[in-house]
Amino acid sequence: MVKLVIKPIAEVVNEEEVRKRTEEYLNDMLKNARIIGDGLYLVDEPTGRATPSLFSYDCMVKSLIKLRFGTIVSMDSLRNLARGKAIHDIYQEWFKIANPNVHVEVESGIETTDTSGRADIVYLREFDGEEIWGLIELKSSWSLNEDREKRYLKQIVSYVLMLEEAGIPIREAYLVTMKDVKSLPINRLRREYQGVIDELKMLETYQGWPIEPPDKSLCVKCELRPICITYSTYKSNRFINNQ
Ligand code: SF4
Repeated sequence: MVKLVIKPIAEVVNEEEVRKRTEEYLNDMLKNARIIGDGLYLVDEPTGRATPSLFSYDCMVKSLIKLRFGTIVSMDSLRNLARGKAIHDIYQEWFKIANPNVHVEVESGIETTDTSGRADIVYLREFDGEEIWGLIELKSSWSLNEDREKRYLKQIVSYVLMLEEAGIPIREAYLVTMKDVKSLPINRLRREYQGVIDELKMLETYQGWPIEPPDKSLCVKCELRPICITYSTYKSNRFINNQ
């Protein structure tokens, strides 16, 4: 049996290296970004295609904005994106070295009829005389509340279903955060979140915009407020109703 070496992110990445790479990636991202006003940058054009990464958003309207207008972020979020990429890259490089007898693929694209996406780490290792596939999702968070963990699990289940459709049956999966490695009960999660791909398709075909923010408390600190059609509709309806 080939034992898997897997650790929390903070035990693997070096903060100095993260800082250095964050600056490099941030500069690259800024070269390709377009300033769209209100302190916001467009860093990726829209694809119109819902991918499992949309589950990482806490508001459905943010997912719709990404689908229809592209990735729009403030400078703080752009820096966070660059930092996240630096952490991912460093961890993935370490994982390959720490597991020399495991076949490792990082950021491999998965295309299926319904959607496409990129899993952080997919590996193949020998276990009890047979070769089994596994999946690792990296999240550079120190703690996860219930809602955030649920969204990440949906993202992982989407990858599991997509890989299965592509002929790669995933037998084990891990959610790795800054201070934790969580082994996931794949079969139970698959039953619990069996509708995830339909949920992604629903986002793609959603007509118009919700007339009220799904969770108004999130709008208070949301960087997308200046361009959010749902938020502006809600504000003007409130204004009219209070006249
Ligand atoms: S302003 Fe509110 S409704 Fe709009 S994207 Fe942000 S959190 Fe969602």
